[in-house]
Amino acid sequence: MKTISILGATGSIGQSTIDLIARDPSRYDVVALTGGRNVEQLAKDAKALGADIAVTCYEDCFADLKALLAGSDIEVAAGSDAVIAAAQRPADWCMSAIVGSAGLAPGWAALTNGNTLALANKESLVTAGPILLAHAKAHGATILPVDSEHSAVFQALVGEDMASVERVIITASGGAFRDWPLEKLATATPSEAASHPNWDMGQRITIDSASMFNKAMELIETKEFFEVSPDKIEALIHPESLIHAMVGYCDGGIMAHVGPHDMRHAIGYALHWPDRADVPVERLDFAKIAQLNFKAPDLARYPALQIAQDVMRAGGLTGAVFNAAKEQALDGFIAGDIGFMDMAPVVAETLDKMSSHPGLQNAKFTLDDVLNVDQLSRIASGEIISARR
Ligand code: NAD
Ligand code: MG
Repeated sequence: MKTISILGATGSIGQSTIDLIARDPSRYDVVALTGGRNVEQLAKDAKALGADIAVTCYEDCFADLKALLAGSDIEVAAGSDAVIAAAQRPADWCMSAIVGSAGLAPGWAALTNGNTLALANKESLVTAGPILLAHAKAHGATILPVDSEHSAVFQALVGEDMASVERVIITASGGAFRDWPLEKLATATPSEAASHPNWDMGQRITIDSASMFNKAMELIETKEFFEVSPDKIEALIHPESLIHAMVGYCDGGIMAHVGPHDMRHAIGYALHWPDRADVPVERLDFAKIAQLNFKAPDLARYPALQIAQDVMRAGGLTGAVFNAAKEQALDGFIAGDIGFMDMAPVVAETLDKMSSHPGLQNAKFTLDDVLNVDQLSRIASGEIISARR
């Protein structure tokens, strides 16, 4: 019996994780499920899976969750600290699928048990990569990537020596606006940006796919998780999203990971690792697919990719500034305060404004430094957004 916790259980990744474990309940014992305002879903899943505790990150949702779970023996808690405390409960395997930098502290807490953290929350690596890996190591814990591209790289690296890796290619669909004329992008609306050509994901990550901020995050994530130098990391447009990543070796051979666009593959790989087990995803029919296409990304269309290169080279706490500014810019775009093509300049200006912050590029920093820089960067980008309104 494997004990399991799911942080962000009510979200897109959380629900796909639940889909997998609910198919084979006798193998899993659910410890904690956490969510946000969707307490009906949280309560329903907590009951169906027999969780020990259900936690909403919002204190004002406590009463509703409590009422929904009345009569069960499931514990109920609310608030950010309660999410962290639930994450810290011993579990063999913990899914980190909270969206945004709010996922960092709970994932960090889960690692202190020395068990396995399946990491979907890319913000954890972007903001705190080196210290997160060191923290896992210090507690004898394992981090497994769940982001599809990173699961793909991880799988393409099995049995290989990192020293022979020449390049890591991360593919991108190009998002909702891949075929839009460049001039039209400035007028793109949040609802237009929130429809993805291939993947079915949460709203924020789908808009981040249209702007390629998601890919920018993934380039940084690649550098942090696999400890590869930025000049070996490439982004490549691949509209079919069937090759998720490729690893090129020093002998010219390239291992490409191919699979359907269904996050349950990457989640299932992390769930069953180091074994493989049946996962109910579509099996690809290559004769039907017939062709795969590739294109170099246009940096005028996707300025986030250039920013990512600069952030990777700067290192230290720059990733935390980048992520906070990106989250603020995304909020500003969703709220209608700034346009689609204003997001990258807001992030670049925030990086510029924060560049004088003492110790920003130091390789040694703490979790508190990350949280502090995150807050300061949000204030800085908030001011930049206000000035653009
Ligand atoms: P989502 O918005 O669908 O779900 C987010 C979850 O986090 C929900 O359960 C929500 O209640 C919870 N949450 C939100 N704010 C919170 C807070 N402040 N504190 C605690 N919990 C909070 O997001 P998603 O699409 O499932 O993505 C989750 C993470 O996985 C993100 O980091 C995303 O980048 C990453 N990811 C997602 C996909 C995908 O296909 N959806 C693919 C790769 C990586
Ligand atoms: Mg991805």
